[in-house]
Amino acid sequence: GLLAPNALFTPKRLNSRGFDLTDHDSLTKINEARNAAQFGNAYPITVGPATGKAVDVKDPNTGQVIGTILEADAATCAAALDAAKPWDAPVAERARILRQAADDLEENYGMIFAVLSREAGKIQPDAVGELREAVDFMRYYADQAEALPPSQPLGLMVAISPWNFPLAIFAGQICAALAAGNGVLAKPAEQTSIVATRTVELLHAAGVPVSALQLLTGTGNTVGAALTRDPRINGVVFTGSTQTAQRIRRSMADFMQPNAPLIAETGGLNAMIVDSTALPQQATRDIVASAFQSAGQRCSALRCLYVQEDIAPMLTAMITGAMDELTIGNSWNLATDVGPVIDTTAQKAIADYIAQARAEGREVHSLALPESGGTFIAPTLISVDSIQDMDREVFGPVLHIATYKAHQIDQVIDDINAMGYGLTFGLHTRIDGRVQTVCERIKAGNVYVNRNQIGAIVESQPFGGEGLSGTGPKAGGPLYLTRMVTGVAVTPSP
Ligand code: NAD
Repeated sequence: GLLAPNALFTPKRLNSRGFDLTDHDSLTKINEARNAAQFGNAYPITVGPATGKAVDVKDPNTGQVIGTILEADAATCAAALDAAKPWDAPVAERARILRQAADDLEENYGMIFAVLSREAGKIQPDAVGELREAVDFMRYYADQAEALPPSQPLGLMVAISPWNFPLAIFAGQICAALAAGNGVLAKPAEQTSIVATRTVELLHAAGVPVSALQLLTGTGNTVGAALTRDPRINGVVFTGSTQTAQRIRRSMADFMQPNAPLIAETGGLNAMIVDSTALPQQATRDIVASAFQSAGQRCSALRCLYVQEDIAPMLTAMITGAMDELTIGNSWNLATDVGPVIDTTAQKAIADYIAQARAEGREVHSLALPESGGTFIAPTLISVDSIQDMDREVFGPVLHIATYKAHQIDQVIDDINAMGYGLTFGLHTRIDGRVQTVCERIKAGNVYVNRNQIGAIVESQPFGGEGLSGTGPKAGGPLYLTRMVTGVAVTPSP
C-alpha cells in the first residue's frame, strides 16, 4: 500500500500557460504576432476533392470582407461520409498526436488571436481564454482516453459547434471524439469557418489522418442537416441552441440506430440572486462581467438578475454606473470591453427586442454606440417583474432586472426552475446557510457563489447544463469521453 517513491512528485497535467494581459512585454508580443498573422480562407477538408459555393466572410467590427468560405455541396458531404473511418491508431499514438496539436495551437497564438478578433469579434481577454480552453481540452481528453476502462469507440461521430466559442468548443468536441478513437465529421458554425479550418489543418499536420477528421464548412440547414440524417453516423456531439438540438434529435430518431447518442450543450435563461447581505461592489463587478463580457454572447451569461428590494435602488445605480465605464468598440483594440455581436441578423434581432422593451417603458439604462460600420449593440438594462416575463434567450448584451422581497426567495427559485432551462446560476450572499439551501434547490448545471457566473476551467470546473440546457455530460469533465465509447468485457473460458 505504500506510494511509489516519486508518486507524490509526479506533475499533473498543467493547464495552458495563457498570456499576461497586464504586462507590457507580453502585450507587445501579442500585438506583433497578431499584426503579422495571415489567416486565409475557409474550405472543406475531405479525403477527396471538395466543391461548393463561395460566400464572403465579413468582419463584424467593420463590415469589411476578410475572406471567403466555401460551403460544402451535397456531393462533397456524401463523399466525405463515404470516406470517413474511425481513428484506429493505438490510444497512446492518438494521445501523443493530440498533445502535439495542443502545443502547435499554443505556438500559433498570433494567427488564432487575429482570426478570433476579425472573424468572431472577440476581445483580447476572451481570445486568450478560448485559446487556453482549447489547448486544455486537447491535453485533458488525451489523458482521459489513456485512462478509459476497456471500451471501443462508437465509430463515426458528427460534431456541430456554435460561433460563440469557435475555437474552444469546436476543438473540444472534435478532440474528445478523436481521443476516444472515433472518426469525426466536423461542421463548424458558418459564421466562424476560418478559425475552424485553421484548427483542422493544425490537427492534420500533427498527425490526425484526414479519413478520421474531415471538415465540412457550410450552413446548418444544408451540411448540418445532411450529416445528422445519415445512418452510418453512430453519435452526434452538438453545441448550440435548444431548438437546433431538438431538430437534430428528431432527425437522428428517424435515420440513425436507436443507440446513437446525442450529446447536446444548449441555451439557457440564466439567473442570479443578490440578497441584501451581498457585498455591493463585488456583486456589481460580477453582474457586469456576467451580463456584458463577450457582448453577452455566452451561453453562461447572466440574463435575469434578482435583487432583494431593500438594496435594489443602490445596486441599480452601481450597475448603471459600472455600465457607463464600459468601452464599446472594435475587438482588435486592447482597451475594448464590449465588441460587436456576431452578424447583422443577430444585431437586428437584439435591437428589435430592446426597441420593444423601450416602447413598453422597461428600459432602465443603455449606452451610446460608437460610429462604425460594425454590428454593435449597446449594453442595456431592462426591468421585468419576473423571469417568467422572458420568452426567449436574448443572445447579446441585454440584462433583465427584477426585485424580490426577503420572504419571496423560495418563490423566485421556483420561478427560475419552472423555466425548464438549467445552465448557470449565480448567488451573492454572505449567509452561509443560504448558500446551502439555494444551491440544493436550484436546478442548474453550473452554480457560482459570490463571483461572476461565466467561464469554465477544464477538469477543475467542467461545464454543462440540465433540462433544456443540455444532455450532459459536462465538457472538460471525467464523464465526457465515456459517452463516446461503448464498454467491452472479454471473459476468458473458465
Ligand atoms: P445554432 O443552434 O443556430 O447553431 C449551432 C450549430 O448548429 C451551427 O453550426 C449551425 O450551423 C448548426 N445547425 C443549425 N441548424 C441545423 C440543423 N438543422 N441541423 C444541423 N445543424 C444545424 O446556435 P448558435 O446561434 O450558433 O449559437 C448560440 C446558441 O448556442 C445559444 O443558444 C447558446 O446558449 C448556445 N450555446 C450553448 C453552450 C453550452 O455549452 N451549453 C455553449 C455555447 C453556445
